[in-house]
Order: sequence, then structure tokens, then C-alpha cells
Amino acid sequence: MPEVLVSEIEERRLIQRAYRKLLRSIKTDMDDTDRRNIRMAYEIAVDAHSKQRRKSGEPYILHPIEVARICAEEIGLGPTAIVAALLHDTVEDTLVTLPEIREKFGEKIANLVDGLTKLKSDYNRTSAQAENFKKVLSTLIYDVRVVLIKMADRLHNMRTLGAMPRHKQMRIAAETSYIYAPLAHRLGLYNLKTEFQDLCMKVMEREQYDEIAQKLKTTRTERNQYIEEFIDPLRDQLDSLGIKYRIHGRPKSISSIYNKVRKKKVPFEEIYDLFAVRIIVDVAKRQEKPICWQVYSIVTDVHTPIPERLKDWITTPKSNGYESLHTTVIGPKGRYVEVQIRSERMDEIAERGFAAHWKYKDVSPQQDTYETWLDSVREIMEDREKDAFEFVSDFKTNLFSEEVFVYTPKGDMKILPKGATALDFAFSIHTDVGYHCTAVKVNNKLVPMGYKLENGDQVTVTTSKNQRPSENWLKLVVTSRAKSKIKSAIKEEIRDLGSLGKETLTRKLKQLKLDFEANVDAIAKHFGFKNRQELFFAIYNERVNLTDLRNYSIENGKLIFNETSLRTKVIPAPRKTRKKESKPLITINGEPGDQYNYILATCCQPVQGDDIFAFVGSNTGIKIHRINCPNAEHLMSNYGYRTLKAEWSSDVASDFIVDLLISGIDDGPGVIERVTSEISSNLGLNIRSFSIEGNEGYFEGKMSLIVSNTNQMNQAINALKSLDGVSSVTRTE
Ligand code: MN
Repeated sequence: MPEVLVSEIEERRLIQRAYRKLLRSIKTDMDDTDRRNIRMAYEIAVDAHSKQRRKSGEPYILHPIEVARICAEEIGLGPTAIVAALLHDTVEDTLVTLPEIREKFGEKIANLVDGLTKLKSDYNRTSAQAENFKKVLSTLIYDVRVVLIKMADRLHNMRTLGAMPRHKQMRIAAETSYIYAPLAHRLGLYNLKTEFQDLCMKVMEREQYDEIAQKLKTTRTERNQYIEEFIDPLRDQLDSLGIKYRIHGRPKSISSIYNKVRKKKVPFEEIYDLFAVRIIVDVAKRQEKPICWQVYSIVTDVHTPIPERLKDWITTPKSNGYESLHTTVIGPKGRYVEVQIRSERMDEIAERGFAAHWKYKDVSPQQDTYETWLDSVREIMEDREKDAFEFVSDFKTNLFSEEVFVYTPKGDMKILPKGATALDFAFSIHTDVGYHCTAVKVNNKLVPMGYKLENGDQVTVTTSKNQRPSENWLKLVVTSRAKSKIKSAIKEEIRDLGSLGKETLTRKLKQLKLDFEANVDAIAKHFGFKNRQELFFAIYNERVNLTDLRNYSIENGKLIFNETSLRTKVIPAPRKTRKKESKPLITINGEPGDQYNYILATCCQPVQGDDIFAFVGSNTGIKIHRINCPNAEHLMSNYGYRTLKAEWSSDVASDFIVDLLISGIDDGPGVIERVTSEISSNLGLNIRSFSIEGNEGYFEGKMSLIVSNTNQMNQAINALKSLDGVSSVTRTE
């Protein structure tokens, strides 16, 4: 048989196998119509995609089948979503049309496919990605399933990212960690969130990812033994409760371990809470709470708890629906172990989030947490003046972040996003309370209006009729509700006071015998205002000197503003250029970079050998950043079209600055000397600056070094680490 035919038969088998796997994964109830629809959608998709291949060379159809399987198995969606997932790429990429789908499957499925088609993101297109995010987020309030299927689509693309070129991988990963991971978190899909974060880290910080993965692998047996040792003494007592339960240890995700390593600046070996122990009880809804607390009491009888770490998400569920009782205890060998106690129902909600939430909707007596959340999504959507970029960043601060729980003097609880201030609280009570807020007391102590609220704070607001919002208030709030209320109040004020300024201008123009309408816009432009309103307000505030108008000539009843006088106002910015000979050579998008005027970004100070990318600023020229620069994710995901691939193009020596943070035990003047002599004498490197601070036998030093590449930098780091008294050396980010 010819080779082509063999592979064709094999491919058909591959596709059928994938389809059968999908069918087996469906757990929800289905009737005959559902079964027929899934079969039909499968056949249409196979036919429509028959000529297409993925980047990896696989038949394209495997992608929609796998997306449908993720929807069914990993998110727990039903037949309607499965059908839509199978068809999600057909309308955009093939000859299948929306009316056809509507005719065959009905309105509901056609609308889902339509939503998914509109959400198509093309990583190459040079339009603002913020626009696309806005679309993704807008579909939330119409049908959450569109976003859930979109997440399954993204998850499969992330899992199979290997076939893409490196710079595309980075762009997709940045977008994923900026929007999809937090969205998954917000919708309670913890497994998805964790996998998104791990897959992103694998792209952005491969080396660190592999290192932790390797270490987790080598310590697995030891960890399992430890978990056994921890669980064993609990079993008898748990059995005596006479209920069904499951207990197991779960390792934390690679990205969350890495975050700990980075934040706490401790090596992997010193992180003890690498896993959490989960106890899941199988009891009826009304028994959940007392049984969970009984389990808590058993655990803390055996292992000493750390009281500050107790988190009761059962009495007060998180606003994404999460319920669980968390505590940290001191296990054998003095190690910290996090324990999560919950019921099977809570566990399903924790794993499946939104999808499971609907299943239990009628059982849950609490207020519908998702409905409340979706209401606030609607509120943000309604502010139409916002541009897409503002919208996305508002969305992120208001709806993705963790929450703080605070109380009114009467004891009513208010939930605000983490970072919210006392003034935000005032606006959350009522717009009028916000407008007239003069002072805020937290736990009976007077605090500034910008005070950041903490869990459990009791907040009292004092108001006065004479108080009104000022521009400055915008800096004191973070919630989009408070921001938009303050903005509209200021606008109104500008309009009111502006009318006084307008009168002044009218009088002035009358004196000069000039018509108001014929001149007002030119005057606004002359003084550098965007519109009349701003001009009027400035006149009221006496920020504009109208007597100047007398100095201009008048032609045909119009003031003529001399252009040259305008031009002299522009002061040329001082030019800063790097010395030519010290400029490192870089290729940008595969071409020699010397034709561009690029500079190295000061935020992350790349050194030859670092993974880098180029960013085209709107007026700052091209800057070279490190891929793990703290700003990279934001830049790549919002302005992906402005990022270019960059690589070091030669090993010609240049000077690079690298900042190191050194800490250790302070044993007198010895340390400083050992550090400086190691760097200057032994390694022959130049120190730009070195400052050191000691505190009770512990020191922290900041050293700025000149190196010519990452090899030299790593050599210096390793040499410093091996010195007596030095316990850690890290490059600052
Ligand atoms: Mn797709």
C-alpha cells in the first residue's frame, strides 16, 4: 500500500479514537436529541476541517474534539456546550455558515458558536489586544458558557504550544497569564487556573520550571512518607465519626512554589509546605458545617495549629463560590502543613467552579455569589466612556483580585476588592455618603481617606453637606464605582463653575468687539485646552490670563494667533544616547538592530545572555527588556503588536550593569571586605556601588556591578554565595 494511504487510515483511526474518548468523558445526562446533535456536530466538523492541519502537523479536527472533551471532563459542561465546542472553529475558518448551524442545531447553539467566532484572537494581528479582552469579558454577562468554552480552547492551545515559534509562545503565554488565569480563578476553576499558570511559567521561565519539577520528582517518595506520617495518627479518630471521608496530600503547583521561592527569597529546600492535606467528608448539606468543625478539632488535637492561619470560607464563602475550612498546623519534624477541610459538594465546587455551582444552585440557601459578581461585571460594562484598555485594567483590579471583608457600625458585612480604601467604602455605602465624606474612622480611630482596608475592619463614615469631591480623590480610590462617581461629580462641578468662567470670557470678547462663537474654540486651542469646558473652568480658576488676548491681531472678526510664538514654547527634550562603542549588538526581528535606535530598559537591566524582547514605545523608541522583567507580562499582553523578537547578535564585549541583593550573617567588618575583595581582586570586576545595612547580626547589601555577560554575572553570584557569612545572593528584578 502506498505510504499516503497508510497514514490516512491511521489518521482516521486517531480521529475516531479521540471522538470515542470524548463520548466516554461526558458525565451529564443526555437524551436522544443531545446524542444526535453531538454526532452531527462531529461529522460536520470532521468534514469542514478535513483539509486543515495544526502547526504540529496533526489533523486539525483533533483540536475541536479535544476542546469539547476538556469542556465535558475538566469543566463539567453539558451537551449544548460540547456541540458548540466541536463547531467553535468552523464558521471562522471553513465554509460552514452560521445560518446553517442555526438551521441544524437551533438558536441556542448558534448563539454560542457566534460568540466564539467573534472571540477569535489572532496573535499576529496588529490591533489592540485590549479590544479582544474586552470582547471576551463582555460575553460573560450574556452567556458564561462562551467564556468557559473559550478557556477550554485556550487550555488546549497552551498544552500544545510547543510547535509554535518562540516569540509567539511568549505572546500567547503573556496573554494567558494576564487574563485567562485570573478569569479561571474568578470563576472558581482552580485546576484550570493552576495549569494555566504552570504552562505560562514553562514558556516564560523554562529553566526555573524544570528545576522545580525535577526537585519535586526526586523528593516524591520522601514527601509521600511524610504525608503518611501526618495522616496516620488522625485515622482512628476520623473513623470514630462514623462518616465516609477521603484524605490525601496534594503537592502545590510548580508556579506557586516558584512564587514562594521568589517572594520569600528562600531556596526550594527550605519550603516545607510543598503540599496541602485535604480531608473531604461525604455528608448531607445540613451536617456539613458541624462535621467540618469536628474534623478541625480532631486535626488540631493531634497537630498544633497556628491560629492566624485559620480561614473559615464555610461561614463566609469567597465571592467566587469557594467554600472550605483552611488551617495550618505544625506536623512531625516541626514542618508547617496546610490542611483543607470540606464536603464532597464543596470539593466539586472548588474543582469545577461555575459549572458545579449551577448544579447545586437550588440547594444553596446563601445569596447567589455569582449573581452578585455578575452584577458588578454589568456595572463596569455600563460605563461606556471607558476605552478598552481602561476597561481591562479596571476589570482586573475590581473583579479579579481577592477581597477584603469589612463591617459597617451596625455589623453589616461589605465585600470590597483587596486594596480598596476607606473612601471606596464610603462610596460602596451610597453615592451621597461618598460625595460628602469628610472623615473616616476604622475601629474607632481616625484614618486618612486613602487608608487601605483590612479584613475585619469596622468602618464609620462622617459626612458633611458642604463637602464635595475633588480631583485629588481619584488617587485615593481603586474601585471603578467610586472612580466613575467622582469623575462625574467633578464634571458637573466643572460645568457649574465653568459657566461663571464663560460669562467672564463673553464680557471680555464683547469689549474687544468680537463674536463669541467665532472665536471660542480657537482661544481654547491657543491656551492648550481640549475643549471649551476646560477653558471656561480654567478662566474661573484664573489659570488663564485673558488680557493677553489684546496682543493679537484681528482679521475679519477673528483673533489671529501667531504661530511662531506657539512654536517657541516647545522646549526640545535633552537627548540621551549611549556611547556608541558600548552599545551591545542585538538583532531585532532577525535583522541587525543597529538600524534602530534602541536602548536597554532600566526596569530590568538586561545583560548579554539573558532572554530578551524588544518593545516599541509610542515616543520612547525601542527598549530591550528581559523576558522575566516585571513589566513584560503587561507589555506583551496589552501591546503584543508592539513587541518584537530580539536576540543578542554577537559576543563583542560591552558593559552591563547588574544589581545584586546580598544577605547573610553580619560578623563585623569582615563580610564587606570578603565581598569586595572577591569581586575586585579575585574576579577582576568593577563595582559601581555597594551599600550595606546591618540589623541584629543580619545584613543586607545592595551591589551594583559591571559585567560583560550572564556568564560573568553567574560566576560572581556563585562566588559570593560560597563566601562565609553570605546566605543568599539574588539579582534584583
Ligand atoms: Mn480553537
